[in-house]
Amino acid sequence: MRFELLMEIITLEMGLIDVKNLKLAAKNGSGKTIVRVGNVKVGSDFTLIAGPCGVETEEQTVETAKAVKAAGADMLRGGAFKPRTSPYAFQGLGLKGLKILEKARDITGLPIVTEVIDTRDVSWVCEYADVLQIGARNMQNFSLLREVGKSNKPVLLKRGMHSTLEEWMNCAEYILNEGNPDVILCERGIRTFETYTRNTLDLSAVPAVRELTHLPIITDPSHGTGRIGLIAPMSMASAACGADGLIVEVHWKPAEALSDKEQALTPAQFEELAKKARAVHKFVEGLR
Ligand code: PEP
Ligand code: MN
Repeated sequence: MRFELLMEIITLEMGLIDVKNLKLAAKNGSGKTIVRVGNVKVGSDFTLIAGPCGVETEEQTVETAKAVKAAGADMLRGGAFKPRTSPYAFQGLGLKGLKILEKARDITGLPIVTEVIDTRDVSWVCEYADVLQIGARNMQNFSLLREVGKSNKPVLLKRGMHSTLEEWMNCAEYILNEGNPDVILCERGIRTFETYTRNTLDLSAVPAVRELTHLPIITDPSHGTGRIGLIAPMSMASAACGADGLIVEVHWKPAEALSDKEQALTPAQFEELAKKARAVHKFVEGLR
């Protein structure tokens, strides 16, 4: 069968997503991409990334890192550059924050996931980060996507809060097209008419992305719900629908967090969540 015809049929099968343009991101057979970060294999092991929204002080980051490591985290998250709604809100510590993250990695051995928000920062942030995070607000910042695509670090690509799956997959394609094969997708919730939750965590995106691409997908139930009581249930639900892992905000003293304090878990709450999510993952794996 001619390739074009086959692609037309696949497009119809997939609903309205035009996979023709996803030359590198589209699923090709049953193969799944495994993204290696140190000893962690994202896409094969159920991966837990945890840590504060932002790096605030050395003590806060190092103590949180030790606690999440003890609770079973595989990687440490923490923003040194914070994309904030208000220009007057805490913007992150920049280079100082990256140096603190480096220290936390030296002490705990946890690889670092941290956001990059500017093309001019990518090369030097790579000296500190193990995984470069592209935040929801920058999902379609095509120059930034090209820049991280030229780097040799894995990229955690969050879904834009107003983006369709097709737009998101095309953003992954931008990165892959620059020669970087290590893209991890992250569903972090989309804007809907609901106001009880911060966003609506679109869990149907997880199996949908599985149908469309070979790339691993994790979820972010912290930004996806914005509510402490919903984070563990939605973590278990993410594991149940086939997510490859989670990224969760944890703070050693949530009441003192400089950003996203209303969704910061204590280390003890994270420990409980980690146990439950891993148990659900194991159970669901047994059903495959
Ligand atoms: C974050 O992870 O702290 C963050 C800002 O997330 P998002 O880009 O999904 O809002
Ligand atoms: Mn946050």
